[in-house]
Parts: sequence; structure tokens; C-alpha cells
Amino acid sequence: MGDTAQRKFKLATATLAGCFGCHMSFLDMDERLFDLLELLEFDRSPLTDIKQVGECDIGLIEGGLCNAENVRVLIDFRKHCKILVAVGACAINGGLPAQRNLMPLRAVLNEVYLSEPGLAHGGIPDDPELPLLLNKVLPIHEVVTVDYFLPGCPPSGDAIWKFLTDLLAGREPILGHEMLHYD
Ligand code: SF4
Repeated sequence: MGDTAQRKFKLATATLAGCFGCHMSFLDMDERLFDLLELLEFDRSPLTDIKQVGECDIGLIEGGLCNAENVRVLIDFRKHCKILVAVGACAINGGLPAQRNLMPLRAVLNEVYLSEPGLAHGGIPDDPELPLLLNKVLPIHEVVTVDYFLPGCPPSGDAIWKFLTDLLAGREPILGHEMLHYD
């Protein structure tokens, strides 16, 4: 990645089965975001509200895969992004949403929508417009090739900054031990 003088890099981000915490960390870069905007421009992202991903240099994926829509978005990102990055524990190993993998999907749905006290008229949502749930929550590398893994829950703003500035400068990103947090 070396032609910064000619054009800005394009960056897209997506949240799949995650909590938006990794995107909040992105915003924790604070005023350094202005420096980043000198080097790159955003494509599809919750930060831009652009809905379709275009041709991009880097795609950052937060969250794992819990439904068919997540899979569709991920495959679209892989198709359009030269470098795809799994950001945070949910994208890397399924994270908290993958706790449902301990039970069969039907049992989870029954527990959430039918058997809890106060759900006298509960019903499992079945609108055909709802994305089909996967039987298990999957990390993204089980469906597409991932170029980099940026660990943390969430990775700190400092870690995201170091990772991106290394990548944009053509360096292999290296995070020191002090930047790897799970709190
Ligand atoms: S890794 Fe942590 S902060 Fe990021 S989406 Fe998952 S739960 Fe949220």
C-alpha cells in the first residue's frame, strides 16, 4: 500500500453480530481521526450510513456471524476489500454472542421467546423479512479468508490507530503487548 500521494485509501467498516463497542473504540481515536482522514476516506460504514460497499483498500469487520444477512455482508466485503480485518473478539472467535452455541438454537429461541416468566403471549418471530439465524455463531474466518486479526474486546483506540497507521504506511502492523486488552 504505497501510493498515498496520488489518492486516499478507501476504508469500509461493518458490524455483524457485535455490540458496536469496536466502532466506539474507533471513535476513541478522537482528534487523530482528522489525521486519518488526510490518508483515507470512508466507504460503507455505520459512521457514514453508506449501505453498499464499493471497491476498498481495507475492510474492518466487527462481530461474528449469527444470521444469513451477516454472511451476505461479509462475503460482499471480502469481494470488495483488498485487505479484510477481523476486529475484536466477536469477529475473531464469535465472542459473547457465541455463548448461545452451548445450546441448540431451538432451545435458545424457546428460552428467550416462550418460556421466560412474563411471556404469556410470546411467540418466536417468524416474519419472512427477518434474516435466517445460523445454527451456530461463527467467527468470520470460518467463512472467508481474513488477512489480519486485531484482538481485544474491544481493541483500544490506540491499538486501532497503531494498526491502521502501520498498514497505511506499508508496514506490517505490530501491536505491543501493552495494546492487547480485553477490558
Ligand atoms: S469484541 Fe467486544 S466490543 Fe467488539 S463487538 Fe464484540 S463484545 Fe462488542
